Amino acid sequence: MEIFTTKSALSGYLTSFKNEGKKIAIVPTMGALHNGHISLIKLAQEYADLIICSIFVNPTQFTDPKDLEKYPRPIEHDLAMLQASGCNGVFMPEIDEMYPKNEDKKWHIDLGNAEFLLEGAFRKGHYQGVTQIVKKLFDAVKPDVAMFGQKDFQQVLMIKNMVAHFKLPISIITCPIIREEDGLAMSSRNIHLSATDRENSLVLSKSLQYVIDNFDNFSLEELENKAKSYYLNIDGVELDYFTIANGDTLEAAKSKDENNLVALVAAKVGSTRLIDNMIIRQ
Ligand code: AMP
Repeated sequence: MEIFTTKSALSGYLTSFKNEGKKIAIVPTMGALHNGHISLIKLAQEYADLIICSIFVNPTQFTDPKDLEKYPRPIEHDLAMLQASGCNGVFMPEIDEMYPKNEDKKWHIDLGNAEFLLEGAFRKGHYQGVTQIVKKLFDAVKPDVAMFGQKDFQQVLMIKNMVAHFKLPISIITCPIIREEDGLAMSSRNIHLSATDRENSLVLSKSLQYVIDNFDNFSLEELENKAKSYYLNIDGVELDYFTIANGDTLEAAKSKDENNLVALVAAKVGSTRLIDNMIIRQ
């Protein structure tokens, strides 16, 4: 497995593969890797000949400086996991490599109204930061395929809108959510959960599963209210939102007959903010 810290070294390495007509996949991550990330690498192997994983904790997508500061960075562990996964190359640039000091810092693109809903409402400017760094990574790698997790449902939508905005010839693949055995969606942030938080964290997957299991029995309003009631009276858990939304617009679903329906949740468990979702119908 090759390791690169500069865009020029990376593109030098990739040129010969591109000339041979090989397909390249990118798996963008912020590191602190777990089996969710590795599932993206594995799935990428079905779509491409060469897999590049990027590890970059992107400052422009953090709205809370403390969250950025405490983001875990276990690089030796990450490299060992990637090596074992069959990943071909790792791109792990320093901040200046992605955001040169002399660069025009302005970035703003129209991502549609969904940018401002759900996560966008709680983390202002988050998706501008996400799309900015992903565009930079796409420019550096020029991949044929890019893998993203359904875990960050809204992020996939924003990336697809960015790709459409620039008319990039890149296929965006959405990968299923990988969960712990008890249902908690894997996340780099789970490491911050105390033992009590870890128990409490199950409320996210349980409330989502309730909606999936009972979808045919109740109205949308009843389903949402019942799911929200899971969060009452749990000390140390604060619900940000629970919604059954249209998966294309992220607007609250108006009818149970809509084609693309997803239940999405965000909650603070202790001091850790967790998100999760389950697709009801695609
Ligand atoms: P992150 O390092 O958190 O930015 O995540 C990098 C990529 O891994 C994103 O596309 C995430 O959606 C994806 N990802 C994170 N957690 C999971 C999970 N539990 N299952 C599947 N994909 C995930």
